[in-house]
Amino acid sequence: MKLPHPRTGGPFDSPVLPGSGWPGEPATRRTPVAQTPAQVSTMATGARTVEQVDAGVSVCRACPRLVQWREEVAVVKRKSFSGQPYWGRPAPGFGSTRPRVLVVGLAPAAHGANRTGRVFTGDRSGDFLFGALYRIGLANQATCTDSADGLVLNAVRVAAAVRCAPPGNAPTPAERGNCAPWLDAEWRLTGTDVRVIVALGGFAWQAALSMIRRAGGSVGTPAPKFGHGTIATLEIPGRSVQLLGCYHPSQQNTFTGRLTPAMMDDVFATAVAISA
Ligand code: SF4
Repeated sequence: MKLPHPRTGGPFDSPVLPGSGWPGEPATRRTPVAQTPAQVSTMATGARTVEQVDAGVSVCRACPRLVQWREEVAVVKRKSFSGQPYWGRPAPGFGSTRPRVLVVGLAPAAHGANRTGRVFTGDRSGDFLFGALYRIGLANQATCTDSADGLVLNAVRVAAAVRCAPPGNAPTPAERGNCAPWLDAEWRLTGTDVRVIVALGGFAWQAALSMIRRAGGSVGTPAPKFGHGTIATLEIPGRSVQLLGCYHPSQQNTFTGRLTPAMMDDVFATAVAISA
């Protein structure tokens, strides 16, 4: 049954069909679909633009467990969103295509990005993150409710280590490996001006280190360990980039006060100072 998009009113299936007009939809009905990790690798490596990467990500079906989960959530829904369509597909990166700051998260939330189709959008983690980006001048607004809410990021891009919502917010190492070529391609096509990578949590920290290694960079020995506020210098061919740790703005961290708005503001103030 088609339901109206909460802002545009356009009727959509859940999951949303590629090319059906969802706000921010990067794919068309003809976008090739990766069905296996090998196909992810081939398509990501062959992508020539970030738009191609976003389109390929958004229709990817290479992880059977995650495909099954994201689509089941899109059909069952949370009661409070039962009148809305759910995206039910992978969430591509969002923001500047020539960023100076790259934010790497864990994975879409079942009723956040998996519902709205935009990374970190539609849940309290996103309110926390985009609120901080707004306060430091990296976003035009503090609110992020849906993919047509007018949010624009300035010199920052937000991506996730794994692009599909996982059960229990816990992707497996194999799923992280399957999805890594998409992150690598995004780095290759948008990372030229990036001076700082903000890793939201230990999982994203490891994903960023692996991404830099695969790009021919050096992370040092032993590899730097994640910590909130920790900064590590990573060497990549021709330049260095700073990796900056930040606790993930999950409700588990924000409700308990482990991560406060002031703490996240400090992280992004550092990121802006490094990237200036
Ligand atoms: Fe594809 Fe990544 Fe989703 Fe796996 S997690 S299905 S590789 S987009």
